[in-house]
Amino acid sequence: MTGSGKGGRVLRYMNAEMLESARAARGRIQEAAREQVQGHLAAMRANDRPRAMAYFDGMADPFGKRAEELGRFRASGGRVVGTLCYFAPAEIFAAFGAVPVRFCSGLYEAVHPANDLLGDAGLCPLVKSTLGLKMSGASPVLELCDLVVVPTPCDAKLKLGEILQDTVEVHLMNLPAVKGTEEGRASWMNEIKGLVRRLEGLYGVRLMPRMLRKAIATYQRAQAAWRRFSALRRKGGIWGRDALLVAQVSFHDDIARWTENVNRLCDELEGRPPVAPEAARIMLGGSPVIWPNWKVPLLIEESGGIIIADELCSGSRTMYDPVVVGEWTMEGMLVAVAERYLVPCTCPSFSPNLDREENMLRRMREFGAEGAVFHVLRGCHLNSLDATKANVVLRRERLPMLKVESEYDEGDLEQVRTRIEAFIEMIRARREQSG
Ligand code: SF4
Ligand code: SF4
Repeated sequence: MTGSGKGGRVLRYMNAEMLESARAARGRIQEAAREQVQGHLAAMRANDRPRAMAYFDGMADPFGKRAEELGRFRASGGRVVGTLCYFAPAEIFAAFGAVPVRFCSGLYEAVHPANDLLGDAGLCPLVKSTLGLKMSGASPVLELCDLVVVPTPCDAKLKLGEILQDTVEVHLMNLPAVKGTEEGRASWMNEIKGLVRRLEGLYGVRLMPRMLRKAIATYQRAQAAWRRFSALRRKGGIWGRDALLVAQVSFHDDIARWTENVNRLCDELEGRPPVAPEAARIMLGGSPVIWPNWKVPLLIEESGGIIIADELCSGSRTMYDPVVVGEWTMEGMLVAVAERYLVPCTCPSFSPNLDREENMLRRMREFGAEGAVFHVLRGCHLNSLDATKANVVLRRERLPMLKVESEYDEGDLEQVRTRIEAFIEMIRARREQSG
């Protein structure tokens, strides 16, 4: 059945009653989000942390200070583009003067409107929560977006992009399944150029080399700050849950200000002793962990572990790889941006994805991790399969790995806690045995 929604959009998946009922949940979602955010921040502040974290705490409420700032920015003619995955190239949006905001959602309450629409479609909660956020209109920033750019590396994202078109202007970006071939690179390059054309049409502006050069330089500074932070993190002066929050504030912050604050945090970390020298050193990998879905990070660090490294597209991978430009021509810069998002990425949507295990292994050695927790969001088949593969490789190297499946609710909290506690206990016992 079709109808028309807000702004005269054709409704293909939803109907007006369904949207109305989702919108009625808006206040409840916002309220629950504040509780989720404030509860986690209180737990995080209870421990020893760098003073510079105060800035990132202040930016952590998805409906707080930053949302108000972006509202004023938009009202004065500013441009805001929503994105839904690591692959949406921030440099391209910034070149058009638009602020990219990544909307992958970690809000538990926002899952419900999507469940009402989809029934039990078996999609991962990240996708359902993001859809529920848009259906309900609970995110003031998402409502400001001129366009939402949805890369489609997995079926869940592909269908999310399709369904979202009932409520907002969407641009889909197709990912090649095989990234290591000429064809794969060429098809991704076409997607990047297609995005540029879409933004040129949307804003009535032709992209000029100086615009892209400036945006690349801004993000190169952010990437350099993040690499500095990553190197310092190895010394253990910061909890992993704080490090992940720093990464995720970059999803919506003013990137120059974020860079400045990451460097300020690094200055403090230079002379800081480890926060938990006896803790089991854990690497966290798997499905994206999105704020405020901090269940697994908090459980690891409340159970005697520290997340010393991660291989998450919502963590280290967010900013780690720089754009390396060979030639500062328009074509050269677009190639460099395209490669930055494709080549180093170890998203499980790629096949083969052998560099993922190699990366995990390298990072574990580099950071002295004693074990890995591989987080799988229920319904995320790609990460569930990659967990099996990672387990074989890590065991071969005598590194223990725990696969933890979880949902966006508190129902599995105690079960996940018990498994994590037992895993950390086992790591400690190994440490004692090896003297
Ligand atoms: S795991 Fe892959 S598809 Fe999922 S959010 Fe990360 S980069 Fe995107
Ligand atoms: S890769 Fe997994 S977690 Fe990411 S959107 Fe797809 S199903 Fe969800």
